[in-house]
Amino acid sequence: MEVIKTISDLKDFIKDYNNVSLVPTMGALHEGHGALIKKAITEKTQNEKVIVSIFVNPIQFGPGEDFNKYPRTLNEDVIFCEELGVDVVFAPNAATMYGISSDENDNVHLSNNYLTYVCPPYLLVDKLCGKSRVGHFDGVATVVLKLFNITQAKKAYFGQKDAQQLFLIKKMVKDLNLDVDIKSVPIVRDKNGLALSSRNKYLDEDGYNKALTLNKMLNKVKELYDKGVVNVKILFEEAILLNNDDKVEIEYFEFLDFNNLEPVNIVTKNTIVAIAAKVNKIRLIDNMIF
Ligand code: AMP
Repeated sequence: MEVIKTISDLKDFIKDYNNVSLVPTMGALHEGHGALIKKAITEKTQNEKVIVSIFVNPIQFGPGEDFNKYPRTLNEDVIFCEELGVDVVFAPNAATMYGISSDENDNVHLSNNYLTYVCPPYLLVDKLCGKSRVGHFDGVATVVLKLFNITQAKKAYFGQKDAQQLFLIKKMVKDLNLDVDIKSVPIVRDKNGLALSSRNKYLDEDGYNKALTLNKMLNKVKELYDKGVVNVKILFEEAILLNNDDKVEIEYFEFLDFNNLEPVNIVTKNTIVAIAAKVNKIRLIDNMIF
């Protein structure tokens, strides 16, 4: 496996291959990322290479978010990728990605006055995570398009855990006629049902136990749905009871059509139930797609 840090070295590498698949990540890899990587490797065809990018993208973090303290574990991540059979880890820094110098924290202080951004449609951004994370999805779409261009990937793997991101990337691919096949991978959870996330590292024992509320609420919805309850008002009210004593600080708990991200009153196939909440100041997200 090769670890490549510059765009020119990456381009040198891919010129011998007509087929590349990409797994974009911000590192601190866990079995959730592992599921994406394993799927990419399983679906690899002859003369295809699997690239995992590891880049904590400064332009997708807002002021006051956790860019500086986001876990960075490149050495462990490289071992993780090598053991799974990845061909290349692409781990650029911010200066390399954005072509300007970065500060000691690899922060480039870019604004859209200085960079060409990809801005997903406002109506799809101004909901779920985009509502509180202003500018986040512009940063995500911009870096993902850059990574698609740099790697010339024909396939790219994204997790359903970040459902709005997955939705917006598919939309970008369609709207901008990109020749990349977007593959999605179901959420990977730990043994107690907590969706794996690099941010789970911040949770202490109390926080961890509270964080399980997110999945419990989603499971409650599923349990009632399986019994025939489809009315969103009833499902919402029953599920929210599990957050008694305000275990978690709910930012949103919404029922949307995953075809267009519009709110629904009745749960049907392709409804997404999405939740974001803070647990001891740590922001977590989870969802279930019916
Ligand atoms: P991140 O490193 O958090 O930017 O995540 C990189 C990719 O891994 C994204 O497509 C995420 O949706 C995906 N991912 C992260 N956690 C999980 C998980 N628990 N299950 C499935 N995919 C995940």
